Amino acid sequence: MTPLPSHRLVIGMEVHLQLRTRTKCFCPCAVVVGDEPNRHVCPVCLGLPGALPVLNREALAQAVRGGLGLGCRIASFTKWDRKNYFYADLPKGYQITQYDKPVCSDGAVEIESEDRGPVRVRIQRAHLEEDTGKSDHSTDPSSATVDFNRCGTPLLEIVTHPDLRSADEASRYLEELRRIMRHLGTSDADMEKAQLRCEPNVNVEIDTPDGTVATRIVELKNLNSFAAVRNAIEFERERQVREWMETGVRGPRPKSTRGWDDAKRATYLLRAKEEAADYRYFPEPDLPPVTIAAAMAEEFRATLPELPAARRARYRDAFGLSAGDAAALADERPFAEWFEEAVSASGGDAASAKAVANWTMTDVRRELNARGGPISAFPITGRALGEFVRAVQSGELPREAAKSVVFPEMAATGRPWRDIAAEKGIGAVQGDALLDACRASLAANPDVVAKFRSGKTGVKGVLVGDVMKRTRGQADARRVGELLDGLLNV
Ligand SMILES: [Zn+2]
Repeated sequence: MTPLPSHRLVIGMEVHLQLRTRTKCFCPCAVVVGDEPNRHVCPVCLGLPGALPVLNREALAQAVRGGLGLGCRIASFTKWDRKNYFYADLPKGYQITQYDKPVCSDGAVEIESEDRGPVRVRIQRAHLEEDTGKSDHSTDPSSATVDFNRCGTPLLEIVTHPDLRSADEASRYLEELRRIMRHLGTSDADMEKAQLRCEPNVNVEIDTPDGTVATRIVELKNLNSFAAVRNAIEFERERQVREWMETGVRGPRPKSTRGWDDAKRATYLLRAKEEAADYRYFPEPDLPPVTIAAAMAEEFRATLPELPAARRARYRDAFGLSAGDAAALADERPFAEWFEEAVSASGGDAASAKAVANWTMTDVRRELNARGGPISAFPITGRALGEFVRAVQSGELPREAAKSVVFPEMAATGRPWRDIAAEKGIGAVQGDALLDACRASLAANPDVVAKFRSGKTGVKGVLVGDVMKRTRGQADARRVGELLDGLLNV
């Protein structure tokens, strides 16, 4: 195939995020996933004539929190609009959304790009709207069943400016967005459960001898994993450049919509020439506009938890952790909180934090992976790990026995390290007793000591081994080394 001319991707992202609320956006029906079809419906979410919607304050609050987490401005005045379209899973024939007065606007999310370093992805707007029901064609291809349980569930639609330049950046943006929303408790943002649905708008700028040419924008749909997002964007990049090479058709408009077929690993045309005018938006007559007092927005801002980016920076600056460790430990809020509880129980200083991070990234991770449960179900509490690490750091608990005997037992039973150490007869030989053992070892091995003094410092290992034997493995090898150094250099 002919090589592609020099070009770059231009990607804007639209995300639909299911907000975590007890009830639907405009009626009192419960938001329940996975229940029997059409159990959670009422005249309002079914769009029966005469039924009137009432705004769920919890949904508005979650939208405001989500917007603040994205650094957005919160509108003091916001209103509702009808977006008209027909679909079997939309019984009203329109969707209640926000057209020209979104609740949140002008935010940004920082990501670390593989190619460009730190990138600021600008958020154009985030607005509240209701979800549709779900059509199911799986039992009989010639007909469909419709489940309206999801109908009216609150969604936050988050739209970025076209600031992303690669499939990798697109997926990093989605990961950071998911982290932020989970930290806030605004959404569970599980892609497999369709709580986070994304629609990248993709086109390509091609360098030609006559200047830059833009291809037509394609909105990608049916992407239900991060892998699908990356694959679909990469596929479009090549498809659009080749289409321009073959036909000379240029854009960026009109825009078309394409789906992603995971099995064929290709995009396919869904709808051509789709623009906002097709939906005949008009103000929703059944819902009054909403005014949000500045004081209320401020109150939300004041109670916002620490966001993932700030947490990562704190782990690097205050604990001296590497960027990779800081990111891994700060990723999920419950895990980060568990880690911080361990750090404060271990002493709280940077050295203790580093030791806790090491135990967490290796032994704790391994146990967690083997068990497969969340950190909340892990038998060792953050506090218990912190106390354990403190004992190891101070030499009270010999490191070797701590790793091979005490920690695995703690992970299996959740018992505190002291009980396990007492039961197994593990008590560190330290202080004067350890110094005596070192002196005895030197006295019993004059030939080794002589070798050491003649410059063969490598034989120190023999002495450490002898002391460990004399203490039946109940000493900290690193501490033994330090004590021997002191004695030998006198
Ligand atoms: Zn309802």
